[in-house]
Amino acid sequence: MLFAALSLVCLAACGRSATSESGAQGAGAPQAATFPPAPAAETTGGFDGARAYKHVEQLVAIGPHSAGSDGIRRAQDYIIGQLKSFGCPVEEENFHAPSTPVGDVAMKNVLVKIPSANPNIILYGSHYDTKRIPNFVGADDAGSSTGVLLELARLLCARKNAETVWLAFFDGEEAFNFNWVNPDNTYGSRELAASLALSGDLRRVKAMILVDMVGPANPVFKRESNSTPWLTDILWSTAARLGYGKVFINELADVSDDHFSFLNRDIPSADIIDIDVPYWHTAQDTLDKVDPRTLAITGHVLIESLPELEKKIK
Ligand SMILES: [Zn+2]
Repeated sequence: MLFAALSLVCLAACGRSATSESGAQGAGAPQAATFPPAPAAETTGGFDGARAYKHVEQLVAIGPHSAGSDGIRRAQDYIIGQLKSFGCPVEEENFHAPSTPVGDVAMKNVLVKIPSANPNIILYGSHYDTKRIPNFVGADDAGSSTGVLLELARLLCARKNAETVWLAFFDGEEAFNFNWVNPDNTYGSRELAASLALSGDLRRVKAMILVDMVGPANPVFKRESNSTPWLTDILWSTAARLGYGKVFINELADVSDDHFSFLNRDIPSADIIDIDVPYWHTAQDTLDKVDPRTLAITGHVLIESLPELEKKIK
């Protein structure tokens, strides 16, 4: 997630996002010392926040897993193993980022392609690599959205969808250098967008929805200002309808992220992210920062916005 452009926005906006929006469960509730509760899946469109949280827990237990590290191979094994256990068709996109600041790095995107009779594709994405910082396990930054995408995969692979749905777990989103300076970031999403452009499949992608940092206990998701307005509208209006209007707010934030790889190729794309957290890119991004309820809210919005999305792009 971007440092440079955000910092400008942050001057005006970043100080305020710690305000509590935790409505339904009581404002300001401290993180429970034990396993925090998640809303029942029946109340969130079948999306199980507790299952999503368990994935985050497992990914954190792997330890740091930045691109090219030993840890990331264990993260890949975990993600692929879980997806296969759900009956998802899994593909691995292996590639090299030849000129990173640390040299050539072997990377892997993990893809799920759920077929349907309709060729139009809805693509969900999350990065799963953690930032290359000592002792950084990235519970929120990579873990939370990866857990959400895994749980989404469990639901979507088990049913017939009106459109083709793909899920992409991106490697190499994080910059190797501490600061986010192009092109040292979004290696995996740029690779996928490029390979889809080559194969001709990119034009079938009618919507790309990215999730990233969807774990904090008091989330505030602002409309990412570079994202495609109609797509953001569908997500945010669904959230409002479900009663999450104080979580998905109408303020704007400018965040560079994996969705830029698709926006830059004219694919409608949106990003759900709360980057405005004090532990961002520090070793304090630990499991206690992730709330299963926020994972459930995010998943609920993704699942419930799908019918409208399908109508829009069919
Ligand atoms: Zn990050």
